[in-house]
This record gives sequence, C-alpha cells and structure tokens, in this order.
Amino acid sequence: MQNERKEWRHIMKQIIIIGAGAAGLTAAVYAARSGADVRILEHTDKAGKKILSTGNGKCNITNRFQEISCYRGNDSSFPQKVLEQFDENDTINFMESLGILCKEKNGYVYPRSEQASTVREGLMMECKRLGVIIEYEVEVQEIHKKEDAFELTAKTRRGNQIYQCDKVILAAGSKAMPKSGSNGSGYELAKSLGLKIIKPLPALVQLKCEEGIYKEAAGVRCGANVKLMVNGELVAEEEGELQITNYGLSGIVVMQVSRFAVKALDGRKQVTAVIDFFSEMKREELYQKLFRMIEKFPEKTIEDILAGFINRKLAGALLKEMGIRKDRIASKCDESYIQGIIKCLKGYQTEVIGSNTFAEAQVCQGGVATKEINPLTMESKKYPGLYFAGEILDVDGTCGGYNLQFAWSTGAIAGTKAGENSE
Ligand SMILES: Cc1cc2nc3c(=O)[nH]c(=O)nc-3n(C[C@H](O)[C@H](O)[C@H](O)COP(=O)(O)OP(=O)(O)OC[C@H]3O[C@@H](n4cnc5c(N)ncnc54)[C@H](O)[C@@H]3O)c2cc1C
Repeated sequence: MQNERKEWRHIMKQIIIIGAGAAGLTAAVYAARSGADVRILEHTDKAGKKILSTGNGKCNITNRFQEISCYRGNDSSFPQKVLEQFDENDTINFMESLGILCKEKNGYVYPRSEQASTVREGLMMECKRLGVIIEYEVEVQEIHKKEDAFELTAKTRRGNQIYQCDKVILAAGSKAMPKSGSNGSGYELAKSLGLKIIKPLPALVQLKCEEGIYKEAAGVRCGANVKLMVNGELVAEEEGELQITNYGLSGIVVMQVSRFAVKALDGRKQVTAVIDFFSEMKREELYQKLFRMIEKFPEKTIEDILAGFINRKLAGALLKEMGIRKDRIASKCDESYIQGIIKCLKGYQTEVIGSNTFAEAQVCQGGVATKEINPLTMESKKYPGLYFAGEILDVDGTCGGYNLQFAWSTGAIAGTKAGENSE
C-alpha cells in the first residue's frame, strides 16, 4: 500500500511555490486540491507574516464594493479579467472552505473573529491537511527553464540547494514592509528571466510635505477632502479621515491618493495637496457661520472662535500659517481676515516633497508587467509552466481589502491552472 502511494506521488506534477504569503498559500491550497504535489519555499522562518499585520490585526479580507478603479496599474483590464474569474464572493466561500466565517461592516469584510491570525492559521491548517510541504529559510536565488521543467537554486542553512519541478508559481510579494520578508527579490528573479518590470514604488504610504502646519498640528485627526494636483492638474481626489503628522500627511484619505504623488515625484513633477477641512459645507455657508459667530462673541479670541469649528490645535496652526495672532480679538478681524481664514479652511495648499519609504508603505505600485502574463491562467506568456500571483504584479489596490482580494484571486487562479491535469 505504501509503495502504491509512493508510486502515485511520483507521477503527480511537482509544483514549487516561491513565497508563503497570502498569494502563495492560496495558490498552494488550490494546486493541492487539484491533486498536485506542492512545495512552498519561504525565505523567512514563518509563513504569512504580512497577513498578521493587515487591517490593524483584523485582516480586511475583501470588500463588497468592487469597481475596477479600486485596482491600479498600467493595464486596468488585467485585474478586471482576474476578478471576473474569482471575485469577493469566491473569497468569502474560500474562507469558509478553510473553516473561517466572515463578517461585513459597511462593505468591508473581515474574519468574524476579527483576528488576522485566524486567516493565517486557516491557510496553514489547510496546507497541512492537503500535504503541502513548506520549507523555511530557503531563499530562491535563480530560476532556470530546462525543457519541460524548471530548476531553482536556493540558499538554505545547509548551503545552496537545487530544486527541480514541473511548474513554478512566483508569489514572492513586493518591496513593501520588507521586515515581513517581501524584500523585492521576486522582481530580481523575474528580471533574470527577461520579464519586464515596471519600476516598483511605494503606494498606500504617508506623504512628506514642505514645512507648514505640521509641527504645530501633529497628531490631529479630522475629516477632509484632499485633492492631489500634479503640475497644476487634478489627478486624484478623496474624502475621509486625514491625519496630520510632524512631517506631513497620513490617514486613509492620503494613503488612497499617495501612489499618484509618489509616481509624479519620481517623474520630477510638482505635487500639491489641496485640503478642504469643511467639505460638507459650501464656502458661502461657512463664511456666514463664521461671520455670525464673530458677531455673537465679539470678545472671544479668533482661536477660541475657530476652536468651535475645528480641532483647536489645527486652528492654532492654521492661524500661525496665515500670520494671524491666536489671541487676536474676533471683533478686530475684518473682512480680509475672515476671507483669508475661509480660504485656508476650504483649500489649504501644501507642497508634497516626498513619501515615507517601502518600510512604511502598505503596498507597492509597479512590479512584473501584466502584459507578460495571461490573466485567465496567471501563466507567463514567455515561459509556459511559470505562474505569478499577488503583489509581485503591477497591480496595486486601494485601501479596503483590495490588495488581499487580488492576492486571493491570483493565487486561486495560478494554483488551479498550475495544478490542472496533475493526477
Ligand atoms: C501594514 C499592512 C496592512 C495591510 N492591510 C491590508 C488589509 O487590511 N487588506 C488588504 O487587502 N491588504 C492589506 N495590506 C496589503 C496586503 O497585505 C498585501 O498586498 C498582500 O499580503 C500581498 O500578499 P503576497 O502573498 O503577494 O505577498 P507577501 O505577503 O509579501 O508574501 C511574499 C512572501 O514571499 C517570501 N519571499 C520573498 N522573496 C523570496 C525568495 N526569493 N525566496 C523565498 N521566499 C521569498 C516573503 O518572505 C513572503 O513571505 C496590508 C499591508 C501592510 C504592510
């Protein structure tokens, strides 16, 4: 019986997956469910490290609201074709197949346990059940195509090792959050095969701004509308929570537009953020409200008046920026002061001079050019038998579960297709 089992394993297709992240583990589950013999090579000492950091430890798995604008890259038809094959409903079903129930909040989907570790453990237990082998501290350094097979060279604790297999799934992630293991080596492997790489840059990242309100208003969180202008032209606009830091801007609203700022700065363009701290109110309405408050409380300082409108720290910082003394008596603020304040509250302009690094970025924009890959199979057009999954590709999602959705979708497609006709 044992010999029979050995013989059967021998004729199974050997698939090696490079990287045990969300995409690699998903690919492993799907390939093994198709009957393939699956081995994952992971260069850190733990699988799914990044999953544990997602959604502030709660893991925002996917989102009920799906639109193609939530996925960015050089070819928007690519994520569309991917999602047509495996969408958010498939993700929720996939989670259930791992034993994980999901919950939804305003369209954002999380594991019901609200623990990212549930997702990591669910994937790990399914890999174990299916007989997937995971080798740790094995860093793949070279991939060679040998007729119908592949040969991988990897650095291990036992020295360099050669692995041979029928198919390879490259799911080595990006350069974002390198401490989780994604150090960009996947790009190098793809490049060594002659595949085109779109320059990887941070995305979903905090922005650094020229001096202004930042030192004074650091720590303030408020709702705002942010318009991102590149060389004077509007390229992105978002509404949501803004966070002011001592070097610039953060918060979801800024993360969402950040990829455009980073890309434009990389192209040496001028980037300006225009912040509306009162997006819920028209300019005239705000003017009337401020005017009436000053009339009603003429003895108050202008800072005290503004503290009824916005965070006091922010009010002080904006007044300083405008060169207005905080203790100026409100009744002494004439029309030009009021107009100046309104202009600042409804359209504070700040020059963006940089971003935080890959270490702080949640994802990368750029990566393996999607034109190299068939979106229906995730297989390389140049190298049949070589598949790609996850963030290594030139697709970056907005905040809200879209990056993991792309990892689950591409992992599932790559795993299924690589595992086809395995037995
Ligand atoms: C703080 C943070 C919070 C986030 N929150 C969310 C969220 O809530 N929702 C969401 O949708 N997205 C979120 N994201 C993004 C999301 O986590 C990633 O897009 C997704 O995990 C990428 O999965 P991946 O498998 O492609 O890559 P990774 O998870 O980076 O996995 C790649 C794996 O490959 C290994 N590897 C790399 N090179 C080699 C090599 N040469 N040999 C062997 N192994 C190698 C790495 O060690 C790693 O384990 C967040 C990201 C961060 C950083």
